[in-house]
This record gives sequence, structure tokens and C-alpha cells, in this order.
Amino acid sequence: MKAVVFYGPGDLRFADVPMPRPKPGEVLVRVDAALTCGTDVKTYRRGHPVMIPVIPTIFGHELAGTIVEVGPGVQGVREGDRVVAANSAPCGACSSCQRGRANLCEDLFFWNGAFAEYALIPRRVTGVNLQKISDSLPARHGAFAEPLACALHALSLAEIRVGDQVVIFGHGPLGQLLGLLAIHQGGRVLLIGKPGPRFDRARGHGFECLESLPDVVPAVRKVTGGQGADVAIDATGRPEVWEQAVTSTRRGGTTVFFGGCAPGTEVRLDTRRLHYEELKLVGAFHHTPSGIRRAISLLESGAINPDVLVTHEMRLSEVPEALELMARGLALKVLIQP
Ligand SMILES: [Zn+2]
Ligand SMILES: [Zn+2]
Repeated sequence: MKAVVFYGPGDLRFADVPMPRPKPGEVLVRVDAALTCGTDVKTYRRGHPVMIPVIPTIFGHELAGTIVEVGPGVQGVREGDRVVAANSAPCGACSSCQRGRANLCEDLFFWNGAFAEYALIPRRVTGVNLQKISDSLPARHGAFAEPLACALHALSLAEIRVGDQVVIFGHGPLGQLLGLLAIHQGGRVLLIGKPGPRFDRARGHGFECLESLPDVVPAVRKVTGGQGADVAIDATGRPEVWEQAVTSTRRGGTTVFFGGCAPGTEVRLDTRRLHYEELKLVGAFHHTPSGIRRAISLLESGAINPDVLVTHEMRLSEVPEALELMARGLALKVLIQP
């Protein structure tokens, strides 16, 4: 079969690889739709010790497909089922899992393999994070379950109330997906981004948009009637923007750190505000199996239309080009239909 194989930073190869066969606990899925993700861009550039511990490996982690073969011992799914497989699986046994924090699992298992004609879903994933989707859900929407589950997790921590002013820093695919979800949950969204095709597209989604300039915080205060954001979310992963997000948060408001910063970076915080204004600062990482299920039902209900985030459709052989477009800020999500 054809696949896009990651050999190391900067080295992706479109290649013929042996057709996988499912061993006990595994499931073979024909990939009907896969999506590029910001994490893929980062990994392509500098590798990812957690998400890609062994190389070479087939790249990509957002997919929906159809089961073509079920390995021995797999329960609950069969050939012909349309499914979404998440890119990770918690262990269910560690102290974090036991406390209901599956995204913080101490033995979180990651796999990649969406950019191929067929994907072999590992045993640990088939047990907890392989979900059937309804016949009416297009695969191209199903493939959004993983990023949407990440956004759902972040917004569950934000505890948005109807009418809340939500300020999102970052106009990339996840910033915009967070925005769509925040609107669905009753928030008013102000999106901060840099001019360009992706930011232009955001203007069509019902967001108020503001250019990210050095004096963005006073501008946010102005737009929010002097108060600041009820909820401010960083979706850039840059420490200076984390600080802007905190500074933009109103008294008693919540700041969510969704974008992960480079290792070793630090931020400065105003202790007076944290204490006297009871700011709530919270990190948001990854997703949980229940989040994947909720994301699928949101997509099935049509409450979120992810098509607005798909800027390009390309072939498997064009994945490196697709990632290049993303890196240059010219694409939001690229749909790959093997
Ligand atoms: Zn992703
Ligand atoms: Zn665990």
C-alpha cells in the first residue's frame, strides 16, 4: 500500500510499504479521510519524542475510515463498520486514570499512521478509543473528532456561560475550532491573529477579529467594554502570548493555556491580580475517550460544521506540500483522501 513515512525531522517519504495484517487485538481500517494538524507540522520540523517514539513510522494522526479486517479477540466492531480512531489511549489503571483524568495518564500510548491507504489500529487503541460513527457522518467530518475532543476538553475547563466574552489568541485551525465551539456553547468570540489568508477566513465564522499587535491588551479591554475577557484562551503556544492572555482576563475570569510552549520557557505573572482578582489559570492538554465520544456526537448532530476549516484537499503523495502550506500560514486544515 501507499503511505507517507516519517524518517526524522524534514524527512517524509511517499512510499510503498507492506500491507499490514491485524494481530490479536488490532483492527485494520481503510482510511477514508485524514487531516493535517499543527502538531504534524511541528513534528515534521523537529520530531516529537512523545508522539513518535520510534522511526520510521507512518505519519498523520487524524482519521476516519472503514474497518476491513478485525484481529482475533477484538470485541464490539466488525468488518464494514465506519470508525474514528483517536491518536492515543490511556491505560485506565494509573492514579490519573483512576481519578478521571485520562488525558494525564502516566502511560498515555500514542500512535501515528493516518497518512496511508490503510491504518493498523493498535491493540491499546481498539480497546478504548476506536469509536463507530453513524452512516450519515461523512468521513471528512469524522476525522475532526480528535482535534474537536481537544477543544472540548479545553472549554470544559473554561466553564463558559451563555453571553461570556471569550478571547482566543491564535488564528490557526485549533484557535478557530475553539472559537466555533465557544460560539456553540453561547460565548461571544473575539479572535486575535495575524493578517493573512487564515485570519481572513476566520472573519466569516461569526468571530470578531482583532490584529495581534504589541498593544493588543488595551485593544482587547476596549472591545470588551473595559472589563477584559471572561475567558481568555491561548492557542499559540508562545510564552509572551500566554502573558497577554492573562493580562486580558477580567477580574474573576479564567485563562486557559491550550498551546504548549517550548520546553524551558517561563512566564511572568502579576501576583497582585492573581490574588485580589481571583484569576483562574488552567492548562489544557490533549483529550479523553469520553471527549472523543462527545466530539463524534457533536459532529453527527451537525452542531459544528468543520468544513469551514478545510482550506485544501490533496492527495497522499502531496502531504509534504500540505504541511509546507500549513507551516507558511496558507492552509488551515488540509483534507487527505487516500
Ligand atoms: Zn491533531
Ligand atoms: Zn493511565
